[in-house]
Amino acid sequence: DEEDLALLDGDAEELPRGAHAAPMPVLAVVGRPNVGKSTLVNRILGRREAVVEDTPGVTRDRVFYEAEWAGTDFWLVDTGGWEDRVQGIAYRVAEQAEIAVELADAVLFVVDANVGITETDEQLLKVLRRSRRPIVLAANKVDDERGELEAAALWNLGLGEPHPVSALHGRGSGDLLDAVLAVLPEEGRGLPPDSGPRRVALVGRPNVGKSSLLNRLAGENRVVVDDVAGTTRDPVDEKIELGGRPWTFVDTAGIRRRIQNTQGADFYASLRTRSALDRAEVAVVLLEASEPISTQDLKIIDMVLESGRALVLAFNKWDLIDEERRRQLEWEIEKDLAHVAWAPRVNLSARTGRHTDKLLPALDLALDSWDTRIPTGRLNAFLGQLVAAHPHPLRGGKQSRILFATQARTRPPRFVIFASGFLEHGYRRFIERRLREDFGFAGSPVEIGVRIRE
Ligand code: GDP
Ligand code: GDP
Repeated sequence: DEEDLALLDGDAEELPRGAHAAPMPVLAVVGRPNVGKSTLVNRILGRREAVVEDTPGVTRDRVFYEAEWAGTDFWLVDTGGWEDRVQGIAYRVAEQAEIAVELADAVLFVVDANVGITETDEQLLKVLRRSRRPIVLAANKVDDERGELEAAALWNLGLGEPHPVSALHGRGSGDLLDAVLAVLPEEGRGLPPDSGPRRVALVGRPNVGKSSLLNRLAGENRVVVDDVAGTTRDPVDEKIELGGRPWTFVDTAGIRRRIQNTQGADFYASLRTRSALDRAEVAVVLLEASEPISTQDLKIIDMVLESGRALVLAFNKWDLIDEERRRQLEWEIEKDLAHVAWAPRVNLSARTGRHTDKLLPALDLALDSWDTRIPTGRLNAFLGQLVAAHPHPLRGGKQSRILFATQARTRPPRFVIFASGFLEHGYRRFIERRLREDFGFAGSPVEIGVRIRE
């Protein structure tokens, strides 16, 4: 009705966080190893429910996080995660800082108040000063009042007030963030365009053909060797050119180095899957076309869904199946994989090479969906029509109404719907289905959150 439509128009003040037109500012957390950068980043992110799924302590390649403090959104760049990636290469702190400040609108410089200023800290500071970016100094590991004295000694760095904080316990983190907000510009430079190769995880239970497929792809397509001096090339990843573009297949060492079939192999396989997903943007789940879909397959698909990565299903060993098995498989897919019916499917054979070229368009499709952002106006026009035609069912004489919706984030798309009351699960599913019908999202999970407004 009229009232609904008026509310659906929404006004600018109603825009929840994340729905920015202007690029968000970028804050880089910089410091030498072990001062507590990662702990601090997790502390800051811990305040936001939306990032809980980003398991702390796990090495991630994607080191940009959406953070929020006192109603301000910003990107948080965790350089702590970079160190672990540089396996075997001497870690160069100054270089890390150069890159970080290149990206950032402001820098959070973390030192260990208990240790004081080391030579590496001095080195870092030189880089930071040269960058002319605003710097906020965090004196970390001040777990109690006694530490404040040591923190105060950091005044003589000439960076202004040192902010004593305990990343571990949370002490002082609010004041620190207030100081950060004071120097962050309202509008940032935004994230660098993600021009790097897209990251793929090949996952699936043992013997489905992961290493065969990897070898097939690497054999048919050029393996890109990048030897740019100073780049941090992770030896466990492999760059393979598909369709004239480089792609990074993550954690391939784990695929190539077959884990012996010993005790605990399952545990390590699932750990490997998790870490591969963690570092990927899209997962190719391999299933064995010649065998029934198993609980283990479904578990792996669940792990992908939990990770929020884009998903492509590849049915391997297609060379082994006959017409009867094919029909059987269709039936199994309908029965067991209905919840991922949106994922593109490729039927291939790593052995013969059949349809391995179909993987590329499937990956592109899934990643496009994963990146999609629907403008707020279009989204609300769509929802307005939907709600008018199919209002939420009446419950106890009350009608929950959808007031306004926005896409809070991408990768994967997450929508937040503001409603006047509880929205039933079935109704949310209905909205998701219609969103997919109208906007696609093939190959990407879609998350829908509901906030209730009185
Ligand atoms: P990073 O290398 O700079 O990312 O440092 P981490 O976040 O990995 O922390 C290094 C070590 O310092 C870990 O053992 C942390 O538990 C510890 N740590 C981090 N912050 C604090 C703190 O505020 N107080 C204390 N006592 N220990 C901390
Ligand atoms: P992984 O454990 O997932 O890495 O699986 P492998 O790549 O080691 O493959 C397990 C077995 O399946 C090997 O004997 C492969 O030769 C075989 N295999 C892999 N892909 C295919 C395929 O497309 N067709 C057939 N017939 N066999 C395959």
